[in-house]
Order: sequence, then C-alpha cells, then structure tokens
Amino acid sequence: MNGDADSKLAGAAADGETSKPRQRFVLEETGFDEVPEKYRKYYRKWKGPSDDLGPNEVLCPVCKVVIRSTRELRPGDRVYCMACFTRFTVTRSELGALEATIEY
Ligand SMILES: [Zn+2]
Repeated sequence: MNGDADSKLAGAAADGETSKPRQRFVLEETGFDEVPEKYRKYYRKWKGPSDDLGPNEVLCPVCKVVIRSTRELRPGDRVYCMACFTRFTVTRSELGALEATIEY
C-alpha cells in the first residue's frame, strides 16, 4: 500500500514512546523556497495561529517556518530547521500541541 522507506531526513531520531507505530506521511512539494530544492518538502510557510499543524509538523519558534517529517513527531524527537540553522527537541505543550524547544 503505502510503505516506502523514506525516513532518512528531517527529524525524528530518538524513539521516546515505542508502544504504538508511528503514522507515516507522504510529503508533497510546498513551494517553500528558502532551502535547497531537495529539502523543500520538509518545510512550509506558517499561515498564522489558525494554521492547524499535523502530527508530523512542528513550528520553528525562531523563524516561524513549519518543519515537516515523513513520520509522526513525538516528544523527544529532534528536528532541524534548515531555514535558520537551529536544532530543536520536540516537546508537548500544556495544550497538547507539539512545540519545538531550542537545543543548546
Ligand atoms: Zn527556523
């Protein structure tokens, strides 16, 4: 069905919660042009507070770009924003949304 192995890039190294298999996502081109072409599908522009992020997306708090992964993101995952060269750890906010916390 939909099982190609494409998890090499963008995010997600550590498996914090291993109980459930992660959802996988097929990323399409978003027209985001601030990173090299082959990485474009891993980012998209944020449309503002009304923009609902998917379970595979997290907002870069530095440059407000949405970082996307081919699989579901979970707290403890590490992601990299190529637009501002910052590394993050994924955390969950009190509201239950995924957030990116800057790593030092
Ligand atoms: Zn950024």
